[in-house]
Amino acid sequence: MTIRPLPDTLVNQIAAGEVVERPASVVKELVENALDAGATRIDIDLEEGGVRLIRIRDDGSGIAPDELPLAVARHATSKIASLDDLEAVATLGFRGEALPSIASVSRFALTSRRAGEEHGASLPVDGGKLGSVSPKSHPQGTTVEVRDLFYNVPARRKFLRAERTEFSHIEEWLRTLALARPDVELRLSHNGKASRRYRGDGGMATAERIVETLGEEFSKSTLRIDHAAAGLSLHGWIAQPTYSRASADQQYLYVNGRPVRDRSIAHAVKQAYADVLFHGRQPAYVLFLELDPRRVDVNVHPAKHEVRFRDARLIHDFVYRTLHDALAQTRAGEAPVALP
Ligand code: ADP
Ligand code: MG
Repeated sequence: MTIRPLPDTLVNQIAAGEVVERPASVVKELVENALDAGATRIDIDLEEGGVRLIRIRDDGSGIAPDELPLAVARHATSKIASLDDLEAVATLGFRGEALPSIASVSRFALTSRRAGEEHGASLPVDGGKLGSVSPKSHPQGTTVEVRDLFYNVPARRKFLRAERTEFSHIEEWLRTLALARPDVELRLSHNGKASRRYRGDGGMATAERIVETLGEEFSKSTLRIDHAAAGLSLHGWIAQPTYSRASADQQYLYVNGRPVRDRSIAHAVKQAYADVLFHGRQPAYVLFLELDPRRVDVNVHPAKHEVRFRDARLIHDFVYRTLHDALAQTRAGEAPVALP
């Protein structure tokens, strides 16, 4: 065998294997891009569970026409420029991988108009093959269209589930995101029907989103968490012990605004509830941990579901202490706090 470099399209398709598992991962990457671009409203239109079409339009900063090819080029990003930046990432994206990966496994189009520019432009990409940039009218912001996901990767297509299943993965992820960004209006439509609308007006929106996601009962029995120490801040809502779950299905954790799964923090929460929940019952919570981005490595996983803390033990203990104290106070007879 001779050793040869792989063609670019194939490299992108290999990367797509990690970043693009199913339509919900495409929606996640595209919505994160919209948020990084400062969007205040994001419209998501789907057909057939996102397999036929995912179209995401935002009112963010937009992309200049001559930068459209760069946006779909591998390892090209406007978000970091140095190792220093990487160690203090404040945006949701930074790998410059999502658009080239998605564009290599779909019929793709990127259309955008930058703030202050008169004209927009569009770039089609078919299965990784770049078309040419042409003028196209577009309001300020960006629209990404992804058609026929995995049409050129039959092995991948085989793993797609029923339309209903793929759609519910998207809905579930959107709920998770909606909890973290009550300042952004989110609209979801499926097969031409409006399916969900989250208004984007801060406090009120938060309360609404919590009721919608975790239910009336959770929101009536919450304890407000808001504590800071040692450069760490934890805020959000946890359920009183009278409200618990059979499974860990209502546990939402965000680190610097990014939804993540973290064993150590999940464990800290469980410990805090150890004395007040029956064995086998799970607590419900929506918790936001904020810390200096230098203290957390987000470059652990291509899809960025996991992070690594520089001082994991300290954070574990901080979360445990904060929740333990809050739960102890309710036992001392303090009333639950109403939302938001
Ligand atoms: P990353 O988000 O890691 O930078 P992506 O492949 O997701 O990589 O996007 C590449 C680049 O394209 C981004 O760095 C950004 O400059 C630009 N871009 C992508 N989506 C949008 C959007 N919705 N609005 C403005 N710019 C965008
Ligand atoms: Mg991105």
